[in-house]
Amino acid sequence: MDHAPHPRSHWLHEALALEQPPDPVPLERHERADVCIVGGGYTGLWTAIELKTREPALDVVLIERDLCGSGASGRNAGYLLSWWAKFLSLRKICGEAEALRIARASDAVVDEIAGFCATEGIDADLREDGWLWAAANAAQRGAWQETVEAIGAHGLAPIVEWPAARAAGRCGAPGLAGGAFERHAARVQPALLARGLRRVALERGVRIHERTPLVEVKAGVPAIVETPRGRIRAERVILAMNAWAVRWAGIRKAVMVVSGDMIVTPPVPERLEAMGWRDALTVSDGRTLLEYYRTTRDGRVAFGKGGMSGTFTYGGKVGAEVEGRSDFAEPLLAALHRTLPALAGVPAERSWRGPVDRSKDGLPFFGTLGRSPNVFFGVGFSGNGIGPCRLAGRILGSLALETKDEWSTCPLVRAPTRDFPPEPFRLLGSRLIRRALLAKDRADDEGRRPSFVTRLAVSLAPAGLSPFDGPVAQPAATPEATTER
Ligand SMILES: Cc1cc2nc3c(=O)[nH]c(=O)nc-3n(C[C@H](O)[C@H](O)[C@H](O)COP(=O)(O)OP(=O)(O)OC[C@H]3O[C@@H](n4cnc5c(N)ncnc54)[C@H](O)[C@@H]3O)c2cc1C
Repeated sequence: MDHAPHPRSHWLHEALALEQPPDPVPLERHERADVCIVGGGYTGLWTAIELKTREPALDVVLIERDLCGSGASGRNAGYLLSWWAKFLSLRKICGEAEALRIARASDAVVDEIAGFCATEGIDADLREDGWLWAAANAAQRGAWQETVEAIGAHGLAPIVEWPAARAAGRCGAPGLAGGAFERHAARVQPALLARGLRRVALERGVRIHERTPLVEVKAGVPAIVETPRGRIRAERVILAMNAWAVRWAGIRKAVMVVSGDMIVTPPVPERLEAMGWRDALTVSDGRTLLEYYRTTRDGRVAFGKGGMSGTFTYGGKVGAEVEGRSDFAEPLLAALHRTLPALAGVPAERSWRGPVDRSKDGLPFFGTLGRSPNVFFGVGFSGNGIGPCRLAGRILGSLALETKDEWSTCPLVRAPTRDFPPEPFRLLGSRLIRRALLAKDRADDEGRRPSFVTRLAVSLAPAGLSPFDGPVAQPAATPEATTER
């Protein structure tokens, strides 16, 4: 397989080439700030913009270990989705009324981000052609039913069922057995969005130090953020570090980190035309190790696999397992050819992977770190963060500004619970569960009923679109994680 030599994702490569960014400015002295944000992905950048929008005089500094957008935000599949598909999980955590409010807010975010990009001149290739929750086989058909009905009880129909022929015809995937379509969903070039947010944050007066890794946060008021060549004394610190936040054991117990893996083909616009796939529809199927595919502006197909299909990290270290090229490029290409047979013979031009911070219930959680009331975090987006990170900016903004509102008090502000075992049991368990997930997907493809043991093991996996099994984490008055390493 032909891999381009650059280790970064196709998207970040493209974004950096387009924007000709100013050189990164690493921190090389001691600074002070009202708020120091750690992490330059969507969560950190939206929070920075939110804070400056609400309080323009606030002194906000953001540090990023590499470049803004070099984490998951610049490597993801670019599906800008609401939380309607996760309504059952939201309801379990938040209750009916709050789930409805938050799902509606997540839906509004799609237009909000589109409007923000238009106003701020961010060309993130945002196109709102909807999202198809596809059934790749008969067993997956109707996976959306309970969700659609639960939302329908409120007189709403954001997701509508499609017959197999319509689903298959819309994206040239003849094997699809059905689907459910959410019209209000968009595709973005993820790194262009991240880099655009970085520019807007700078324009609003946020100081950004790239190539500046956090070494340690020293508790206190102010807290001290140590980096290799400088330190920031900040009244409040916001950890927007995605998977890398598992360095803190109190967060690690509630988050499992696995790579999400992607490939992209060379431009094949004439093949897409022949398949009848002429738009920016995004598709993901109902596998437990889900597969997703979408087109790009220049007529490529990006194809990825999520769930627990990637490489697992071990303990509190997140490193090479989620960086560079994917270990699964060959099987990904085989899956692309199986799903989209009209692309037979088309190679993968590039592969990459990125970290996914999976929580048990598939939704993020927010709180304060240990006994430090002025150090906040938000983590656990579980592969669905482009839209939700905009809401995270509101939640973290309200927490950091101590504003008592519907965001600082929402049930997603909750204490992390021990959802995953410590190592080595976590890694062993993850591998066993992955084997079961593979067995289930294979059985579904072959029209067999998976064995009892397989079904049991599958029920232990973190939630995807279907609701999770097990107890619900309770919102806490002072949600906190421990600082132990
Ligand atoms: C392959 C893949 C496909 C995905 N597809 C989708 C999708 O289609 N739709 C969707 O909604 N979501 C998707 N996601 C998830 C989505 O990308 C994330 O939920 C979202 O980007 C999280 O944003 P974030 O800012 O929290 O994390 P990140 O973007 O990862 O930002 C965290 C930042 O912290 C920085 N950092 C880490 N350690 C340190 C340190 N010590 N000091 C300073 N900085 C540090 C990192 O470099 C990184 O830039 C996908 C994820 C992956 C990996």
